[in-house]
Amino acid sequence: MTASEKPILIAGGGIGGLAAALGLAQKGFRSILLEKASALGEIGAGIQLGPNAFHAFDHLGVGEAARNMAVYIDQLRLMDALTAQEICHVDLHEAFRERFGNPYAVVHRGDLHGVFLKACRDSALIDLRVSSEVVGYDQDGASVTAHLAGGERVTGSLLIGADGLWSNVRQQVTADGPPRVSGHTTYRSVIPTEEMPEDLRWNAATLWAGPKCHIVHYPLSGWKVFNLVVTYHNDAPEPVAGKPVSEEEVMQGFRHVHERAQNIIRHGKDWRLWVLCDRDPSERWIDGRVALLGDAAHPMLQYFAQGACQAMEDAVCLSHMLAHHDDHAVALENYRAQRFPHTARVQLLSRAIGEHIYHPAGEHARLRNAIMSAKSQEEWCNDLAWIYGSRGVNG
Ligand SMILES: Cc1cc2nc3c(=O)[nH]c(=O)nc-3n(C[C@H](O)[C@H](O)[C@H](O)COP(=O)(O)OP(=O)(O)OC[C@H]3O[C@@H](n4cnc5c(N)ncnc54)[C@H](O)[C@@H]3O)c2cc1C
Repeated sequence: MTASEKPILIAGGGIGGLAAALGLAQKGFRSILLEKASALGEIGAGIQLGPNAFHAFDHLGVGEAARNMAVYIDQLRLMDALTAQEICHVDLHEAFRERFGNPYAVVHRGDLHGVFLKACRDSALIDLRVSSEVVGYDQDGASVTAHLAGGERVTGSLLIGADGLWSNVRQQVTADGPPRVSGHTTYRSVIPTEEMPEDLRWNAATLWAGPKCHIVHYPLSGWKVFNLVVTYHNDAPEPVAGKPVSEEEVMQGFRHVHERAQNIIRHGKDWRLWVLCDRDPSERWIDGRVALLGDAAHPMLQYFAQGACQAMEDAVCLSHMLAHHDDHAVALENYRAQRFPHTARVQLLSRAIGEHIYHPAGEHARLRNAIMSAKSQEEWCNDLAWIYGSRGVNG
């Protein structure tokens, strides 16, 4: 596609939408980003970034800024929440970094979003508009027009639906109804480092796996705070996002785990609850001049810690394809053909990880411990190469 065409419209100003705007700007394309909220921002929690995220940062032109705000952890550590014993860990030092060409890190979502937002604001090619909910679109052979909730119409050459789990754009592209409610309830808290139990202030992304529940913690923001995410498979029937809850309610799903693991939860405060949703992979990402990206295309459970990383890879791939193909239809189809199998694998494996690593009980859990504790560091790297070694675009 040529950069002289009408601007490309992007619905959604989350990590995926901002990454898409930056990727397009790197290739000389103008974009108009339409965000529903009255301000651009992210929730105050943490996010893990595999080496593949750093490959994407470099493509998107924010490599240095992203590297400056990250906490570089030493390990991915798996604990048995019933015995408080380590099952295994993945060492993230030199051998891992050399293998994948980049580090593994954790960051505050606000900091990451801020890096993307500043780069978008600094670009003359990106027009950021808030209070602009996209409710639908229509298109002819030459352009696509986004319909906004207030009645306004905005016309561009393409429309990228980066409007998240509850995407309106997806509903018009696929008409496949609401996402699947997983029945897993996640509670999030961020606590000052001095309030984290001293013997657990590890420089690691730590996961305590117990029957139908797990706890994740890691340091953030230059070690000022710890991110806590605890999840309980309680068959919750309805989707919920960000509802404040008491510590008592959080504790309900964790009374059966080791005292040391329960103690982590007691230090949390201002807990908020999400009932997690995902979807089965669906190949339908494109409708003429409209394409889906990020959670709108492939919403997944967070168990691989890859949703945002995959959204960034989508942005790299989409901008690459648009820059390399004159015909937008060929570019969008190549984007879909490369990204669909990869993201579908992450979606399905995220579910499988929940079932077989995060939440098993009894014999199933003993089998997990036996298999995972027997792996060498080299085997871990081999197992993870397909995801951490990805550059977002092949060839
Ligand atoms: C508990 C938890 C932990 C996670 N941990 C990790 C992790 O460690 N690593 C990782 O990589 N990923 C993680 N993820 C996944 C990651 O948060 C998401 O995959 C990622 O944020 C998706 O980005 P997105 O831009 O596609 O969607 P969103 O972040 O949902 O952004 C969508 C944006 O679009 C806006 N919007 C919505 N509808 C409209 C509309 N109709 N018109 C205009 N704007 C609209 C929204 O306001 C929002 O700004 C986690 C998720 C959860 C729930």
